[in-house]
Amino acid sequence: MAELAIPIVKKKLNGYVGFHNLPNQVHRKSVKKGFQFTIMVAGESGLGKSTLINTLFNTALYPSKENVELTNETPKTIDIQTISTDIEENGVQLKLTVIDTPGFGDFVNNEDCWRPILSNIEARFDAYLEQENRVNRKRIVDSRVHACLYFIAPTGHSLKPLDLEFMRRLTHRVNLIPVIAKSDILTEDEIRGFKQRILEDLHLNKIQIFQPPSYGNDDPETVQENKEIMARIPFAVVGSDREVESNGKKVRGRKYPWGVIEVDNEEHCDFVKLRQMLIRTHMEELKDYTNEVLYENYRSQKLAAAAGGAGGAGGELPGDSLLANPLSKFEEEKLAHDAKMAKMEAEMKAVFQQKVAEKENKLKVSEEELYARHREMKEALEKQRLELENKKARLEGRPGTPEKIKKNKGLFK
Ligand code: GDP
Repeated sequence: MAELAIPIVKKKLNGYVGFHNLPNQVHRKSVKKGFQFTIMVAGESGLGKSTLINTLFNTALYPSKENVELTNETPKTIDIQTISTDIEENGVQLKLTVIDTPGFGDFVNNEDCWRPILSNIEARFDAYLEQENRVNRKRIVDSRVHACLYFIAPTGHSLKPLDLEFMRRLTHRVNLIPVIAKSDILTEDEIRGFKQRILEDLHLNKIQIFQPPSYGNDDPETVQENKEIMARIPFAVVGSDREVESNGKKVRGRKYPWGVIEVDNEEHCDFVKLRQMLIRTHMEELKDYTNEVLYENYRSQKLAAAAGGAGGAGGELPGDSLLANPLSKFEEEKLAHDAKMAKMEAEMKAVFQQKVAEKENKLKVSEEELYARHREMKEALEKQRLELENKKARLEGRPGTPEKIKKNKGLFK
């Protein structure tokens, strides 16, 4: 049915109402509730994933491996590890969950290295879906992954087939944020060329990465901020959870014989812009996109697969099957609905037939009781009649008829 358009009339208020305070109410409620954010890091081992997480949140979530020479014996992440922590800044609580994934290149067969990571992301969607379907949905725990930082080795050439395969598999399930790891070992020119080739590869392979969305009513400052962030993607980052001395000041950075690379200096690397997007300006956007687009796609695929009994949310390439044929999804839903109706009708028929059989049985029993009572009454009357006839015969001085006497005796037995 077509929706009726309700005309919106703009009215001027005659006096104070107070709803200008609504944003403050939301603000107070959010601060009280606290925030939560789940971030995943992925890429080859030894690219500085743990260091960058420590640098981003300015806390030692992972033990520092600074000055530890990397050898084959250096412990590597071989399972998916999750670290949850509560951090606070100016009274605002953030429950931060970091998911560290096994570094690629650590396995005999690296082709399927994306598989356990994709399964982990989908298992988190499943857990959320299961909670949503419960009768009591009051305390839903959201463990869905809101962003995945994908670390690209600073080769300066282009993306490796493994990088492309990983991102192609995950692009429909998570907000991908590619970063060029350890960019301090590349020159500015090398970084510029590398970024260009990475963006071309992503475009050619139809890999969608997270980009700050722009809205029509954005103020000029936000538009400018977004532009500056976009210009830096993929972010060339440097991580360091140590302070070094630069021009007499203590800064977070990496010291070289030729000078210091400062992590928090926008002229030295893109770390500040990455942190700005992830934490300061776009955390809520990342969460909204996860909830409204990535999770919704997964959820509808999963439900369609359950109704049709075929396929599954984790098809060849996640996300593709849903986008491919919306009509067949509609048909699947219709078939499922028809099947449900037919089942309900059959159940109702069975109940009705059972009720009719019970009633018929009851009627039969009471009919038999009626017959038995009728027979009893008839026999009692016949007995009375014979007695009276015998009495009459005795009074008249003649014996009762032999049959009648016999019958009479039989009745007394
Ligand atoms: P992960 O295995 O990816 O988690 O890597 P780690 O964070 O453990 O870092 C591996 C090594 O790289 C450590 O020795 C770090 O000090 C070093 N490292 C981390 N980030 C950087 C960086 O931005 N530049 C350079 N040159 N080295 C880094």
